[in-house]
Amino acid sequence: MTTFYSPTYFCNFCEREFEAGDNCYSQEAALNKAKELMYHKAVHICDNGHIGVGIFTGFERVDIGD
Ligand SMILES: [Zn+2]
Repeated sequence: MTTFYSPTYFCNFCEREFEAGDNCYSQEAALNKAKELMYHKAVHICDNGHIGVGIFTGFERVDIGD
């Protein structure tokens, strides 16, 4: 099983979650990166071509495989 942590943002314009940036492959790496991204923002291309700005909300843990 492979586990990774995907940086997740919440778009303030369209109020959807989206992912941006590189995944982390250990909990420790994600924890350290979360401290760095805490006040980070990312641009989101919303439906209809709007461009929104989202705030970092955390890392989503993703498990792949069996
Ligand atoms: Zn958006």
